[in-house]
Amino acid sequence: MRTILIATSNQGKLRDFAAAALTHGVEISGLPRFSSLPTVVEDGLTFEANARKKAEEYSLYVPGEIVMADDSGLEIDALNGAPGVHSARFAAPDLHSKDPHQAVANTDDQANNARVLRELKGVPAAQRIGRFVCVLAVARDGKTLATFRGTAEGIILDAPRGTNGFGYDPLFYFPQIRKTFAELSSEEKSHYSHRGKAFREFLDWCKDGVRD
Ligand code: IMP
Repeated sequence: MRTILIATSNQGKLRDFAAAALTHGVEISGLPRFSSLPTVVEDGLTFEANARKKAEEYSLYVPGEIVMADDSGLEIDALNGAPGVHSARFAAPDLHSKDPHQAVANTDDQANNARVLRELKGVPAAQRIGRFVCVLAVARDGKTLATFRGTAEGIILDAPRGTNGFGYDPLFYFPQIRKTFAELSSEEKSHYSHRGKAFREFLDWCKDGVRD
């Protein structure tokens, strides 16, 4: 069975990937000693730029191995695409800080969700459209081999619903199945989510053996 090393410490993401991989006979493993490696500063302006940067830099720690990194977030139309690449630290007081320590300091999910609700206060349901975006980059020896993008479009609720998942899942209502992402099992989420879609693209790409 093929093992893919994923550069993340986010257990929610690892669970999402593992669920998607299972159905394709692929095993997911965190990058060895990930938490002791220097943190890659996510200062790119796009999900693509950040995913590539993480995959390239982390692949240097495991020569010859394929490393996957994901950058993802929520874009809300009424907020001009925010939180976007700042999704993990939306509640930070200095969101656009150039200080690398501020730039890597994530804020907790509850605080991030509270900020979204504050900023959308009074915005009617029809204008609360948002989408999750996930970009996966795979790299080997410091070079990106390919990137894959998945999106899922929904409505941002005015109160959380559901207890599964992570991040903005309880606020993200997916009309297709009339549930928030926090009301889905991990298998269901992998079927509908931005991450599941991007990951399936990756699995198709590597089906016949990883290409250079
Ligand atoms: P990053 O990709 O590590 O920069 O962080 C992405 C952030 O976007 C997470 O910390 C969450 O706040 C949010 N996010 C990304 N994907 C999801 C998802 O599937 N559900 C809920 N929130 C997500």
